[in-house]
Amino acid sequence: MMVARSVDVVLLGPPGGGKGTQAKRLTAAFELLHLSTGDLLRDEVKRATPLGVEAQGYMQRGELVPDELVGKMLMGRLHSQQAGSGCVFDGYPRTLAQATLLDGLLAELGRRVDVALYINVPDEELLARLTGRRSCPVCGAVFHVVHNPPRQEGICDACGGTLVQRADDREDVIRERLRVYHESTAPLLGFYRSRGNLAEVQGVGSPDAIFEELRAAMGRLKR
Ligand SMILES: [Zn+2]
Repeated sequence: MMVARSVDVVLLGPPGGGKGTQAKRLTAAFELLHLSTGDLLRDEVKRATPLGVEAQGYMQRGELVPDELVGKMLMGRLHSQQAGSGCVFDGYPRTLAQATLLDGLLAELGRRVDVALYINVPDEELLARLTGRRSCPVCGAVFHVVHNPPRQEGICDACGGTLVQRADDREDVIRERLRVYHESTAPLLGFYRSRGNLAEVQGVGSPDAIFEELRAAMGRLKR
């Protein structure tokens, strides 16, 4: 009898590029487990597991949680039944050291990263999306000057507050975030490209269109 092999996917993409949305759709369509290390960390801390308590110590001191500790959390989740058919790694790895660590974890289970899906979005497109955000300081509602404009320019639909551009959404702040993103992502792209399992998708257009590209890339996988 043929047993379907698990599929493990690394999802790479810029801030504001719709990666979280696509990760959810991929996991639903291919019955994979969505593994976001941010969510994983918060969950372990909330449940006060031994690893969570240890991680919280680092976070309270304002330090980065060490790779090995996050690796142990990932391993725990990889051993779970839901992870049996494979995972979508969202927001991980971010560094070459983490990519190597992930390879080691998967190898222990006789698995590997089958494909690294890279959602490539031009910086100018990301800037337009992110700098167009307007927030209501009164109720927290978020609008977009093009994609989700308020009924009256500059005024919150929900409470009538005056909309502002948050400091995080200013062009210079976003350009710096994108610079850091490119600097840290380039080595990862090189890493997966050199192994022949990088699939690049153009992240421009509707979420549906981008998802179809991702689905097609998954379909080209050798199973
Ligand atoms: Zn408001």
